[in-house]
Amino acid sequence: MDLLKMKEGLSSLSEAERLELLKELEQLSVHSVKVPKSQDSRRFLLDNKLGCCAHCSHPKYVKFGIDKGSQRYKCKSCKRSFTEYTGTWMAGLQRKDKIDNYLALMLEETSLDNIKEALSINKKTAFDWRHKILASLSENDKDDFTGITESDETFFLNSEKGRPLTHRGPRKRGGGSKTRGISKDQVAVIVTQDRKSILDLTVATMGRLKKIDIENAIGGRIKPNQTILCSDAHVSYKGFAIDNDIEHHALKAIIKQRVKNRVYHIQHVNSTHNRLKKWIDNTFWGVSTKYLQQYLNWYRIKENLKHRNDKLNAFINKVSEDIKAYQKYQNIGLKYEKLISTQF
Ligand SMILES: [Zn+2]
Repeated sequence: MDLLKMKEGLSSLSEAERLELLKELEQLSVHSVKVPKSQDSRRFLLDNKLGCCAHCSHPKYVKFGIDKGSQRYKCKSCKRSFTEYTGTWMAGLQRKDKIDNYLALMLEETSLDNIKEALSINKKTAFDWRHKILASLSENDKDDFTGITESDETFFLNSEKGRPLTHRGPRKRGGGSKTRGISKDQVAVIVTQDRKSILDLTVATMGRLKKIDIENAIGGRIKPNQTILCSDAHVSYKGFAIDNDIEHHALKAIIKQRVKNRVYHIQHVNSTHNRLKKWIDNTFWGVSTKYLQQYLNWYRIKENLKHRNDKLNAFINKVSEDIKAYQKYQNIGLKYEKLISTQF
């Protein structure tokens, strides 16, 4: 059909006919917006009564009309309404038609500059979306560690990348801390993994690790008679193992002891330290401490999905499930303030 001829024909239409045409066109444009898979995945859960209210988590709700292409639901308990987006990282996004492509590019670890080009969005949007998506990744797995489990801390320099430097001069990327050894300017990350597939990466504290930090990071998932803990000879690990009544093998770095009784070592965990640092440095040119835990979550999910054929779908499902994601995203700053408060 010729657009020019259609336009000519328009002038012969009555007012009522024009209004009718306008409505038709509006309908068409609503339906032509591609429904993202991420939306489908949440809607499927909600439509099949497998979800819960995005406000109060009550399991009973009813369909409550369509709103700008979104399905609306109303909670039977708190009476508030919500859509498949409420609470998720996608809440309030303008360009929902770009979500699926964004997630695919993110999974391929495409740089923000290239994402900006590929999707014609600005860099700030690309940056914000990344951190919203990361906020929807859980901070830990639910499963316990079993068998020989290695745990050791590694350090990242505190970085305020992207924030104005007010109280000190600029520092080279990856540059050393001013003081030798462990200083309060370093972020301690506890890495724990068993010999199967359970991995935990926790931003623990600023500076030297204390027993309570280990307890907070992995305490709930290490059980007596189920886990054998291997660590360095750090006194905090010793204390943690005694408190939790866990068999513990400490490797003594001072005598360059690397393996004990052939099986007790922390070489897997140390190799994870190295790969993690390379990934953060080479892929992102370092990350701001504020977002470090989020990137650790990304690394862990990446490891989880490594051998799956349906990576993208699994990733999409993971990030669209979390209805606390938006709130977690908003709390990133607060969590950072709390971490920094352990600095002094
Ligand atoms: Zn409710």
